[in-house]
Amino acid sequence: MDTSVMPPMPVTNPLTEFFWEGARAHKLMILRCQSCGYFVHYPRPICERCLSEELAPEQVSGSATLYSYTITMKAWHPFWVDKVPYVLASVELPEQPDLKMLTNIVDCEHDAVEVGMALEVTFREVAAGLTLPLFKPVGS
Ligand SMILES: [Zn+2]
Repeated sequence: MDTSVMPPMPVTNPLTEFFWEGARAHKLMILRCQSCGYFVHYPRPICERCLSEELAPEQVSGSATLYSYTITMKAWHPFWVDKVPYVLASVELPEQPDLKMLTNIVDCEHDAVEVGMALEVTFREVAAGLTLPLFKPVGS
């Protein structure tokens, strides 16, 4: 963990705190509608399918498929100066069609990154109090 420059920290609120607490506990948590079972990510207060306000965090499998990515070459913040290039990715979770999250792909040569590749979550403490759910190729 590099502590010389802090990353931009997420501003948590009652709607998102479960996500960051889950990451610190190495659990990938996604909001799920308690009325119809629909997963909602990013966290929102209302189910987009049935408009229920009865949402609760649920641990998901941690599996994913790479939907899209880009390799970031420029550090847009001092925290990333020694971390570029890195892979910024949109991954699709298997729990529901079109359930996606933004993340980074790690433990993978950039030439080997491929849309559709099978991924699994891994958790990295990138700063004191900030653990991120990142994804790596299955079995790497
Ligand atoms: Zn619903």
